[in-house]
Amino acid sequence: MNTITPDLPAFLQARDKSLFIDGGWRDARSDKRIETRNPATGEVIATFADAAKEDVDLAVASARRAFEGEWSRFTPNDRHALIMKVLSVLEKHFEELATIETVDMGAPLARTRSFWNYTDRCLRFFATQTANIGGQTLPSSLPGGMMTMTLRAPVGVVGGILPWNGPLIGQLWVLGPALATGCTVVLKPAQEASLSVLRTAELMTEAGVPRGVINVVTGRGSTAGAMLAEHQDVDRVAFTGSTETGRSIIRASATNIKRLQLELGGKSPDVVFADADLDRAVPGAAMAVFSNSGQVCYAGSRLFVQRSILPEFEERIANFAGTLRLGNGLEPDVALGPLISENQLASVMGYIDSGRQEGARLLAGGTRPGGALEAGSFLNPTVFSSVNNGMRVAREEIFGPVVSIIPFDEEAEALKLANDTPYGLGGGVWTQDIGKAMRMVQGIRAGTIWVNNYGAIDPSVGFGGVKASGYGWKGGAQHVDAFLYQKSVYIGGLN
Ligand code: NAP
Ligand code: MG
Repeated sequence: MNTITPDLPAFLQARDKSLFIDGGWRDARSDKRIETRNPATGEVIATFADAAKEDVDLAVASARRAFEGEWSRFTPNDRHALIMKVLSVLEKHFEELATIETVDMGAPLARTRSFWNYTDRCLRFFATQTANIGGQTLPSSLPGGMMTMTLRAPVGVVGGILPWNGPLIGQLWVLGPALATGCTVVLKPAQEASLSVLRTAELMTEAGVPRGVINVVTGRGSTAGAMLAEHQDVDRVAFTGSTETGRSIIRASATNIKRLQLELGGKSPDVVFADADLDRAVPGAAMAVFSNSGQVCYAGSRLFVQRSILPEFEERIANFAGTLRLGNGLEPDVALGPLISENQLASVMGYIDSGRQEGARLLAGGTRPGGALEAGSFLNPTVFSSVNNGMRVAREEIFGPVVSIIPFDEEAEALKLANDTPYGLGGGVWTQDIGKAMRMVQGIRAGTIWVNNYGAIDPSVGFGGVKASGYGWKGGAQHVDAFLYQKSVYIGGLN
């Protein structure tokens, strides 16, 4: 039974997807297919090629040819103009891309449509960076009047391994700097959400990106992903995903000493002081976890609340959780979609059981909604209180709409608990006291800190992690620099 509604984009109506290599669709070597489902309904919406070694080799070879070909002669102005053309083609197709993303990974259309602003800011920033690639002319102390300078050159073929929680924008952190610098890319999207990445590659090629500059191999992480990570002819890997997979990417990088950027897991602290403006802090701290149904790497999932406001805060956040409308993301006014899959839902339910068993108090959620939502992987937004920072729900990344309230008395105690985690991706502080805010900003060991807001990201500023959350900045001039390598030039014979 084909249950795909007729007004879905044509791209979704053709169900069997090939690989995108060398500027076009290519059949994989093997006939093996991977089914992907709409997590709001459980329906199979497409099948992907399960790329094998020969397919990954072909994609990398295509990226290498492109790196050395016509693309290497694009001037900064040419690359700037190309990025702006890409932006205009994506704008024309953004409703389609948002719909594809919603159907594939479940996020509401309101969210996936809002990715246009993100895309626009991101690609505009990378376009500006095309003119910002250079070195220095440096005075040297060498004899003989040598001229000495540094240059920057693109690192080459970049493998981008993406998670499923928002590939439509996640891919921009690989494609943007590649287009800005003259690198080429082989993307391996997650099995659970590959469709928007495939369609974007096709659209970018229509916009004039030379063949081979962007290739997409679909397939399993343990095969296609691992082969890309260890490939001898891939110069850099940009990986976003779990810390555990990040470790295997590091090991695989040893084959040819690849450069890496790793954006890994998190268990970010969000600290609400008694003097916070609760009209902002309650929805802000709630959405710091519930956005994208909790499937956000920097989710503020450990919510430290000063004890003097605890009863009021608990009541307000539990009420807020109850106001969020769950549903199929294609319907209007839906605030939260499903989790990505039944597997992910089962994993999150396991954490909810563990929280209960360890003595956390369930203030809201913890259950699947019934009725029309039963067929999807939905979970009511869940609030635990009376959590201790040692409980499993406070130690491990849940990647679902589950927030754990951990009470504290003193500022120093909040800071100590905030840092008591293997992760260091993000952190939030809610207070009216600038001194207190700045002490927390300086004290929390994390790559990104938000004060009186949570989750804002600007591509020219960027974000990143420390500790088990990885390394390598996303955004800003540093990100572009990481797609380049430096050369020193010593010019003799001048006198
Ligand atoms: P994951 O298992 O690490 O997967 C991420 C990507 O890596 C997927 O494309 C996956 O392929 C691939 N992969 C899996 N095993 C691999 C291997 N051995 N070698 C190479 N690639 C491999 O993570 P996930 O379960 O998809 O996503 C949830 C996790 O990602 C959470 O822990 C979350 O914190 C993290 N995450 C972090 C960020 C961030 O920016 N820090 C953003 C989003 C998610 P398949 O899935 O197709 O098998
Ligand atoms: Mg899917």
